[in-house]
Amino acid sequence: MRRAWPHAWRLPAALSLAVLGLAALGLAGCGRDAQENATQHRFMAMGTLVDVTVYGVPADEAGTAAREVERLFHDLHRAWQPQGDGALGRLNTMLAADPATDPAAVDADLGMLIAAANGLAQDTGGLFDPGLGALVQLWGFASAESLPAAPPPPEAVAAWLEERPLQVDLGGFAKGVAVDRAIALLRARGIEHAIVNAGGDLRAIGRKGDRPWRIGIRAPRDPAGVLAALETAGDEAVFTSGDYERWFEHDGRRYHHILDPRTGYPTAGLVSVTVLHADAGRADAAATALMVAGPEAWPAVAAALGIEAVMVVRADGGIELTPAMQPRIWFTDAAYGGQARVRPLP
Ligand code: AMP
Ligand code: MG
Repeated sequence: MRRAWPHAWRLPAALSLAVLGLAALGLAGCGRDAQENATQHRFMAMGTLVDVTVYGVPADEAGTAAREVERLFHDLHRAWQPQGDGALGRLNTMLAADPATDPAAVDADLGMLIAAANGLAQDTGGLFDPGLGALVQLWGFASAESLPAAPPPPEAVAAWLEERPLQVDLGGFAKGVAVDRAIALLRARGIEHAIVNAGGDLRAIGRKGDRPWRIGIRAPRDPAGVLAALETAGDEAVFTSGDYERWFEHDGRRYHHILDPRTGYPTAGLVSVTVLHADAGRADAAATALMVAGPEAWPAVAAALGIEAVMVVRADGGIELTPAMQPRIWFTDAAYGGQARVRPLP
């Protein structure tokens, strides 16, 4: 049943500027909004623009902490890159020679991260699959700098499905964990009000003075557009996975970076999934997993992951929200609201 949307109204222009305009500018640096009493620090890491916004502490303290967050992101990026000389790159080289290599023996922290990823894989019946690194490589989505020009030969995909060589890829999870660690770092420095925003995926703590943090969610087929906004309540992460983040076209078909481990091909049926959850790592993995689950199964997989607040945009244009998400979302345009319906979790 479609019904009129109760929360459909146009947001003040200032909101979309605050949330998305910054990401669009693509500049690195530091800034202070004297009137707002918020300090912002921006840098590139993990292939994306990261914004650290801190409220309520002196600018020098905020700046020092934000630069520590920048170092943390760079360190984690190096450690968790699937190739190269970081911990995960070394593990993958060892796995290629011996699939029984113990990740914890290579690096204790990486071992914990992979154990957590494997737990999420189990909860999703393997739809979230941190062991599909070789498939990501085969598709050419492993490099942050370049996109593939064509899909791999079908025989190569079939060979991967048969052999499933173990190579670890944490691309669907690591950004969330990095955001969680960044928030922990800020808290350890006495900061209680902040947002760590990595390319539109973020976790917010506290408030922006006398009002909550406001977050914009990008419209899937409109790079400059805002689909909806929400206000975070206390300590919450908002993560979106979409087929528009990394993709290429070949022979008139669109191929994107979220792969279905059951078929070896990009997922179909959903354009984007937005998850609201306390823990950024779990939200990140869940958004990826629900893209794989698709338009029929996503509510069951969300329930299995303990995720209550979800919004999905379907390939047919329909928007679905769980009962927990519905009261949190403000659509920026009444037309979006008209496409939305509530879908309960099992
Ligand atoms: P995200 O943008 O968080 O949805 O993560 C997408 C990234 O996760 C891809 O670029 C791959 O590195 C990785 N990935 C792709 N498909 C899957 C999957 N089914 N399970 C886990 N990770 C995946
Ligand atoms: Mg993810």
